[in-house]
Amino acid sequence: MKSIINYVFLFIVLFPIQIFTQTQIDTIRNRTNKYTIVIHGGAGTISKSLPDSVKKSYLESLSHALQIGKDILANGGTSLDAVEKVINYFETDPKFNAGIGAVYTSEGTHEMDAAIMDGRDLSCGAVAGVQHVPHPISLARIVMEKSPHVLLAYDGAERFAQKMGLKLVPPEYFDTPERYKQWQDYKKKLEEGKHGTVGCVALDEYGNLAAGTSTGGMTNKMPGRIGDSPLIGDGTYANNKTCAVSCTGWGEKFIKHIVAFNVSALMEYKKMSLKQAADDIIYKQLQPNDGGLIAVDKKGNYAMPFNTTGMFRGVATSSGKFEVMIWK
Ligand code: ASP
Repeated sequence: MKSIINYVFLFIVLFPIQIFTQTQIDTIRNRTNKYTIVIHGGAGTISKSLPDSVKKSYLESLSHALQIGKDILANGGTSLDAVEKVINYFETDPKFNAGIGAVYTSEGTHEMDAAIMDGRDLSCGAVAGVQHVPHPISLARIVMEKSPHVLLAYDGAERFAQKMGLKLVPPEYFDTPERYKQWQDYKKKLEEGKHGTVGCVALDEYGNLAAGTSTGGMTNKMPGRIGDSPLIGDGTYANNKTCAVSCTGWGEKFIKHIVAFNVSALMEYKKMSLKQAADDIIYKQLQPNDGGLIAVDKKGNYAMPFNTTGMFRGVATSSGKFEVMIWK
């Protein structure tokens, strides 16, 4: 009897210790108290004469999204969680072209793409062409963590979402009056290339980088078209050796220039700084009006270059910076 009591006592004392794996203990030990988070809500032709109320509402949404990520990182959360939760927020705000605010295809449907990447070990997950998933970034994370694959598309991705217990929604969930008008205006050539893809990159207090991007793609795209956002190395990339990158803009151009990976490659192979590498791609390799990117490196330096008139964006750091912006 006494030995059973001893055993139970030991179990109760040791249990909390047992639930920490060696990796978690290492992680806690390496906490630096330094973090950086950068977000974007799309780049494009954003008129400077935007009504004040519209401008205010974009800036408020950006601040809200940034605060979500900052709180996670400041409380010792991981860059991966910060990236997913920030993008989850954007995916519920109809002003942004992701989740509920996804743009229309040429056939009046919605097809969404997303990707997430963990800079610790290059783990990544992505989905393309999903039509019933309210949070494509979370499905991308499940593909990364719970499937042997990197990219799942169309109904295969949705069947996997269902199997993993994610709630699917009817296609009408993504019908918003603003995007409908934008689609009609685009067809009448009244709407210029405005993008609203969302992205987030972060460095957490354990020195780990993560990147994520979520989008409805480009207005009036052909059904079946997949852009740069879910393609690892094109619209999304993270590697603890160099940087984390999320892109926004004309996806076909970003695919041809393998933009996100190239920022990392210029740093790794040509020893450029984050700013030099990001500027090189956006201002020298791409053309005016192609788009922009956000990036953070392993030291917490960040870059947010764009060659369009504006890019919805923001940055927060552990040293107290907290800024949201639209134009230069
Ligand atoms: N890059 C996205 C795509 O081509 C669109 C955007 O960023 O606005 O699908």
